[in-house]
Amino acid sequence: MICLGIESTAHTFGVGIMDENGKILANAKDSYTTEQGGIHPTEAKNHHIACKDKVVEDALKEAGITMDDVDLISFSQSPGMAPCLVIGMEKAKELARKYKKPLIGINHCIAHLEIGRKLCGCEDPVMLYASGANTQIIAYEGGKYRIFGETLDNGIGNFLDGFARYMGMGFPGGPKIYSLALEGKEYIELPYVVKGMDVSFGGIQTNLKQKYDSGKFSKEDLCYSCQETVFAMLVEVSERAMAHCEKKELLLGGGVACNKRLQEMCENMCKARDAKCFLPPNGVLVDNGAMIAWEGIIEYKSRGADKIDDLDIKPYERTDDVKVEWR
Ligand code: AMP
Ligand code: MG
Repeated sequence: MICLGIESTAHTFGVGIMDENGKILANAKDSYTTEQGGIHPTEAKNHHIACKDKVVEDALKEAGITMDDVDLISFSQSPGMAPCLVIGMEKAKELARKYKKPLIGINHCIAHLEIGRKLCGCEDPVMLYASGANTQIIAYEGGKYRIFGETLDNGIGNFLDGFARYMGMGFPGGPKIYSLALEGKEYIELPYVVKGMDVSFGGIQTNLKQKYDSGKFSKEDLCYSCQETVFAMLVEVSERAMAHCEKKELLLGGGVACNKRLQEMCENMCKARDAKCFLPPNGVLVDNGAMIAWEGIIEYKSRGADKIDDLDIKPYERTDDVKVEWR
């Protein structure tokens, strides 16, 4: 079985093609970026409209197949920015109708977890999902992917991008903060905000902006201190979730998980508690179509296709709204 998956929750229009053994046949994408400022939903939507046909073509070409070889189409139905989600869904419906293929809607967060499980070969991990809009600590318990901790305000990526934007850098800011942090020497104390199993970034953002405006601290030291602080918060709650659920595996997901310092801190924590840390390749950490295709295959096998006419986007669906019938 070959599945073509379409991702369009936010900045990236991605088309991935997977076979049922978990082989990535293609993972094409086009991402909206800016020189200055963050993601404007209407501009991101227009970006997706402009590139969608080309990205589908690119993926088919990369896989060396035609639509006739595709057995199933999947798309990211939730959660995400509604104007962006609609474009992916409409493209998926158009292809499903034109080529008479079954269609299935997928939860983006769960797709991150399942592609990680497949590619890394881990069984039953706690996932630290650190992306632009989402920051969640997720683990499988009692038939669902439960959220054991999460951000109470911004996602970590949006937080990092917001601070980068404040310093005059465009989107995405995460990689720029990472590079500046490498040059940082002095740790500047920042608020450390863990509440129970949850984290919050709003107060840290304000504090960082005030410190930046004071002119007393270098960008490099601020970026370094920012990363050390907020990543420590994520590692703390991930570790507590692992202890609580008695799980011995940590899986990373989301674009911010590409950050080498976050990866290192997670690996150190796992080593200290005799657990294993799994780092999927960057191509599936960031938003991508391959994970949507893979999740399409495993969900189709357990619950079959959705009815095309009934399908709509679910911008606010939560990870634990989905009944996990395939495990
Ligand atoms: P996602 O929404 O999962 O695609 O993640 C997007 C977030 O990941 C943005 O906030 C980016 O700044 C961040 N990001 C993407 N690539 C990297 C990277 N190589 N290093 C650090 N952060 C990154
Ligand atoms: Mg994501």
